[in-house]
Amino acid sequence: MNRPLRVRLVGLIGLGLTAATFSAALAHAAPFTYAPAGVLVPGSGTGLKTTKVYAPNMRYPIMDAPSYPNSQVWGVGGSQGPKGSQCDVKNYSYPWYDNYCETRTWKMPLCPSGKGHQGQDIRAATCENKKHPTAATEDGTITSIGTYSVYLKGASGTTYRYLHMDPATLSVKTGQKVSKGQKLGVVSNAFGGTPTSVHLHFDIEQSVAGVGIVFVSPYNSLVASYEKLIGVADPCATKSCDDGQVCTKDSCANGNCAHVPVNSPCDDGDACSLNDACQNGNCAAGGEKPCDDGKLCTTDSCASGKCVFAPNSKVCDDKVPCTVGDACQGGGCQPGKGKDCGDGVACTQDVCDKGACKNPPLAGTCDDGDACTADTCTSQGCQHKAQGCDDSNPCTQDACGGGTCSHAQISGPCDDSNSCTSGDQCAAGACSGKAKNCDDDNACTVDGCLAGACSNEPLSGGCDDGDTCTEGDYCGLGLCLSGATKDCDDGLDCTVDSCGDGKCVHSGATQPVQQVCSSAEILEIYDQCGAGPTLQECPADQPCGSGTCGGKPDPQAAADSTGAGPDAVAPDAASVDTTAGGIGSDTAATPGQTGNAASANSASGCSGRSSAATGGWLALGPTLLGAWAVVARRRRSCAGVRRVPTLGESIAIAEEYCQLEVRRQWLGRAGPVLESGTVQE
Ligand SMILES: [Zn+2]
Repeated sequence: MNRPLRVRLVGLIGLGLTAATFSAALAHAAPFTYAPAGVLVPGSGTGLKTTKVYAPNMRYPIMDAPSYPNSQVWGVGGSQGPKGSQCDVKNYSYPWYDNYCETRTWKMPLCPSGKGHQGQDIRAATCENKKHPTAATEDGTITSIGTYSVYLKGASGTTYRYLHMDPATLSVKTGQKVSKGQKLGVVSNAFGGTPTSVHLHFDIEQSVAGVGIVFVSPYNSLVASYEKLIGVADPCATKSCDDGQVCTKDSCANGNCAHVPVNSPCDDGDACSLNDACQNGNCAAGGEKPCDDGKLCTTDSCASGKCVFAPNSKVCDDKVPCTVGDACQGGGCQPGKGKDCGDGVACTQDVCDKGACKNPPLAGTCDDGDACTADTCTSQGCQHKAQGCDDSNPCTQDACGGGTCSHAQISGPCDDSNSCTSGDQCAAGACSGKAKNCDDDNACTVDGCLAGACSNEPLSGGCDDGDTCTEGDYCGLGLCLSGATKDCDDGLDCTVDSCGDGKCVHSGATQPVQQVCSSAEILEIYDQCGAGPTLQECPADQPCGSGTCGGKPDPQAAADSTGAGPDAVAPDAASVDTTAGGIGSDTAATPGQTGNAASANSASGCSGRSSAATGGWLALGPTLLGAWAVVARRRRSCAGVRRVPTLGESIAIAEEYCQLEVRRQWLGRAGPVLESGTVQE
């Protein structure tokens, strides 16, 4: 029991009490108390805690007070209760106890455990059997009577069931209409043959949404009807449960206020909010009332449910393009001042056209009355330009006077519009300057000036490189390239040829050409370098003498018959180069042999040989320096006889067996050395 017992003071009935009823009167005198619905005797089950009064207008089902609804099974003397008599005073005392959901096997959808007792057990004022009358709870009809049950269907639709009334003394029959408070029978212990305790089992059947027709808790309905019976005013009759909230449904049961939240439209008292609705018991504001007039120059708001459009002073646009600083005034947009299009030029007109400034010239404002000027108005003001007198000559001062042009010559710097001149000056009315110097001092370029810049294009052709010892100098790549070195070759090996200052120089000693008769047939000629000899064969009728063919006989001719040259100095035999000239082991020519040559030749009979060549020296090919060279040869002898070859000798060799005499010369720095020899051919 977690709540205090409800206490209701009940007035004493007082007068005329009998002794038999005294104890009951004492009990009756006790204040009516009851445990709340759902509070059962501990251990008897789990009750349904509810404040709902299912039959608020019913009459208490037992005719008279006092009466004690409580448990039979768990009360004193019950099968589950303290030992003692069912008539124990504790069973006939307040407070009441609910036993609607007391432990039973009946199916009870509304009970917490799903099972329960169906109704409430009620004791009358005393435990006397068949004494205390019961009463109809409301106007209705007796619909069924069993061995220990009576069903009353009320006009309200609620069915009430009374159990354990003595069936023999029932005051009603099935189908009988009864009035509220009418006696139905008496409280007894009837239970279809097996007695129970003396009590009335009372229950209420109603249709419950979502569940169906079920037994509902009769406890609060019993409390309410009992308080009416014993004269306790309905505490809810004078109690106000109005919480002032439109979003709760207020109710009162047994003096207790209930405030159940509802979901419905409401009014939060603010007329500027629309579609207010209840939420969790409170009225919540809905949307704001629309108060937009679409005008920039009013500030829109809602006050007391009415839209307010207050004029403001915002910046606005009056849609007139040539006004500036437009501002809101009186709820509308007022134009500002005109746009300033002044350009500060006196000769122009200042106008605004569709928001754009335009400054066309004002006609006639610039006329200076001078026929020699063209008067115009520009953004710089009036312009008076001399007209028709410009000769485009920077060296004249053009002027107009009396309608006549004059062009006075002026001096000083000017511009001849030629960037290849500099230092332009006016002179005699003409502008000219000094040509730019573009000479690069190079004969192989063409020098010029183009657009102020020097150009030096390469040339081709001949030039002079300044070196007189070169010839055929020529231009190439813009440079003068040297030609060939001057040819100073004098053809003499004994001189060193060179060029200086354009002249050929031949250093080294030379000597006169010498001609020497080496024999009557041979003239030896030595050149300027002493080289030689070049042999010349003298005709037989012009023997060599005094260095020329046919010359005066040389007194030393006989002594010179050795054939050596004028400087004949026989070289050391060891130094003779046997490879030069292809001469084998020389056989020294025997002096005087030449003289025999002709005779020998005449008898030679060598076929195919020129007789003219026999006996004369033949000059041979080129000379070589530092070597022996065969320089001449002549047929010395020729056997011309076929002979029987000796053993091992080649027949071909034996065919002709001529002997040649050769002359060879040492070609060295030491000077010419000539010697003779023979070789077999
Ligand atoms: Zn019962």
